[in-house]
Amino acid sequence: MISDYLKNSVTRVPDYPKAGIQFRDITSLVADGRAFAEAVTALAEPYLSQAVDKVVGIEARGFVFGAALARELGVGLALARKPGKLPRATCRETYTLEYGEDALHMHLDALEPESRVLLVDDLIATGGTALAALRLVRQLGASPIGAAFVIALPELGGLAALQRQRVATHHLME
Ligand code: 5GP
Repeated sequence: MISDYLKNSVTRVPDYPKAGIQFRDITSLVADGRAFAEAVTALAEPYLSQAVDKVVGIEARGFVFGAALARELGVGLALARKPGKLPRATCRETYTLEYGEDALHMHLDALEPESRVLLVDDLIATGGTALAALRLVRQLGASPIGAAFVIALPELGGLAALQRQRVATHHLME
C-alpha cells in the first residue's frame, strides 16, 4: 500500500494537452524527496526477490524512475529512445499515436540475449508506448520479466494488453 502523501504528490492538470484530458504531472512527485523515495522503494519491491539483469527506461519520464529503480536493484539501465537520439546502430519499433505515429529505438548491443529485463515508465494508458518497448526488448533477444509504472489508467487497456503478452505488470496508483 502506498501512502496518501505519495498519491497526493502527483498533480492533476485539467485540459492538458487538450480539452477533456486530465494530465497526471509527475514533476511534483519527483521534486519531493519523500514522495520520490517512497515511489522508488515501492516500484522496486516486487523485484527484490527476482533475478533482474537490466532495467529498460522509456523516454523521457521513464528515464527518471528507471535510473532510480536500476540503482535500487543494483543493475544497469538501458535506454529506449525517441528517433534521432542514439549515436550507434539501433533497432526500431513504431507505434500509433492519436494523430500519426512515433518510434522507439535501442542500441543493438543494449541488452544481452536472454537477459531478464524490467520495463519502466511513469504512466501506462493505451499501452502503445510500452508495447513498442516490449517488442524492442524481444527483437534484441532478451526476456521481459515485468513492466512497472508509477501510474496506470487501466480503463485505457494498456495493462491488459501487456498481460496478454505474458508480461507481469506492477503499478503504484491509478
Ligand atoms: P500510452 O502509450 O500507454 O497510451 O501512453 C503512455 C505514454 O504517454 C507514457 O510514455 C507517458 O509518459 C505518456 N503519458 C500519457 N498520458 C500521460 C499523463 O497523463 N501523464 C504523464 N506523466 N505521462 C503521460
